[in-house]
Amino acid sequence: MFKTDYCGDLRVSDEGREVTLAGWVNRRRDQGGLIFIDLRDSRGLVQVVIPSEEAQAHAVASEARGEYVVRITGKVQRRRAGTENDKLPTGEIEVRATAAEIMNSAKTPPFYINEDADVDEQLRLKYRYLDLRRERMTRNMVIRHQVVKYIRDFLTDRNFIEVETPVLANPSPEGARDYLVPSRNYPGNFYALPQSPQQFKQLLMVAGFERYFQIARCYRDEDLRADRQPEFTQLDLEMSFVEQDDILQLMEDLYTGIGAAVRPDLSIPAPFPRLTYAESMRRFGTDKPDLRFGMELFDLTNAVRGTEFIVFKSAVDSGGAIEGICVTGGAAFSRKEIDALTEQAKQLGAKGLVTIAYNAAPEAATEDDIKSPVLKHLGLDMIRSIGKLADAKAGDLVLIVAGVGGVPVKEPGSVTRVKPALDALRRGLAEKLELADPNTLLFAFLVDFPLFEWNADEERWDATHHVFTSPKPEDIDLLNGDDLGSVRSNHYDITCNGWEIGSGSIRIHTRELQQRIFDVLKFSDEDTKMMFNHMLEAFQYGAPPHGGIAPGIDRTVALYAQESDIREVIAFPKTKSAQDLMTGAPLPVEQRALDDVWIQLAPKKD
Ligand code: ASP
Repeated sequence: MFKTDYCGDLRVSDEGREVTLAGWVNRRRDQGGLIFIDLRDSRGLVQVVIPSEEAQAHAVASEARGEYVVRITGKVQRRRAGTENDKLPTGEIEVRATAAEIMNSAKTPPFYINEDADVDEQLRLKYRYLDLRRERMTRNMVIRHQVVKYIRDFLTDRNFIEVETPVLANPSPEGARDYLVPSRNYPGNFYALPQSPQQFKQLLMVAGFERYFQIARCYRDEDLRADRQPEFTQLDLEMSFVEQDDILQLMEDLYTGIGAAVRPDLSIPAPFPRLTYAESMRRFGTDKPDLRFGMELFDLTNAVRGTEFIVFKSAVDSGGAIEGICVTGGAAFSRKEIDALTEQAKQLGAKGLVTIAYNAAPEAATEDDIKSPVLKHLGLDMIRSIGKLADAKAGDLVLIVAGVGGVPVKEPGSVTRVKPALDALRRGLAEKLELADPNTLLFAFLVDFPLFEWNADEERWDATHHVFTSPKPEDIDLLNGDDLGSVRSNHYDITCNGWEIGSGSIRIHTRELQQRIFDVLKFSDEDTKMMFNHMLEAFQYGAPPHGGIAPGIDRTVALYAQESDIREVIAFPKTKSAQDLMTGAPLPVEQRALDDVWIQLAPKKD
């Protein structure tokens, strides 16, 4: 047997046993007569003592260095009183070596494996196999495994079956750009890597499976942010004969269950609150609100109607909105801090930021109690009523953004800047003031999304979620009108702590309605035929009512691992510019290989 035990598993109950261990030298301390090696393997660390009396083992230990691979045989003994390490699960014992062997040497790693120091991300990604040896990453990978295992068991217990769907799939407009794979057999034709298994899972419902899931890799060629990767994993699921509530309840049970199994120390309040899209936009300015703290948006458009203050007046006159947030205790912010907030608001697309600091309760405030560059313009009465509207207390700071507001905005070229700016300010301030409890996962469901959203760049309506989402039955008639922005859909999201975790919907399951949506979206008959004919056809062969959802596994794991970047929970992630720094991908290929797939490269653009 190569090894009898894992280092990290040994306990006092193993005292007296002879064990053979194999792993990596985490740390080595040479005290002359006595050498200590902290030996690490996939399950943790144990201290090995090698006294000079054990000549063979001692000679080997003298030669070993950090990250060498060694095998050690010895006896488990209790550590001397006073030398126990209560930070290590194995801290009460040690292994006294009787034989040792070096199985491989190691160069000095480019960063410390045995410390949780901040290491340059580029270096971490280049040497990911070393980065993954670090405790934090090993822990995250274990959490990932536990989460996915829990999901598989949970769904299996509820009669779901896991079905694999193709990775070489059909190109389809799902919102993002497709990763394309050229076909050798059909010159000029392409597969697309799936943005999600959406069509296949719906076809599995037509096939009669009723409950499907898959831990599915999805591919989207978009510009990346902290919570995006070109390839990512979804828990993709679909059910027949269900309503929205069935799916939301399933998600609530799943996410509280994962918490209880994997991180019982975290607080996961249930039932998960449900907000309509409209309510969430009104109160938080976003469809992925962080509900762990207040600081909700308030609308003062009506309250300031009639003011001559030009910033507000022009917003009101142009049909825009004026909204604000109230920062508890913010009156104490320095000039510099206020300037930074203003700068941030500008970067977020706001024209400027109006600030009012209340050093007394608004109703009792005199001019001396107010610190605001707009005191003169608005007058004390207006400042007081804004304070009351904001529910400001003595010591609070009110931040106001004026501009084109309201959601969704369908006029070509117009943008909703007020809400995104206040949303970002609210998040930033919560972080600065530590308002959100990091040990709480506050999930929420967002419902009643609009079916369509206006694409100002291309001057057309797009499906908010995707083209297979059904409209609310009571809104179907609105499909005939021109206010497509008011058609609500059976699309829902699950969010947590300000992240969107996943989207889903009750689908269209009749050919007529599906065709009607394609018409409303002005898809040409040719496009529809080429891209969706199989769906339209399938709906004619007894398609059951069905719906589903697809939460992101990476985001889910990041929540339970308390990581803010999904790259920390992906073994081999790509950089924000979609590169793999370890293998170098993407890489050029020989012209011969391109010839095979009928590709001629265009000259490089500068
Ligand atoms: N396919 C959808 C997505 O990837 C999820 C769903 O509707 O089930 O967002």
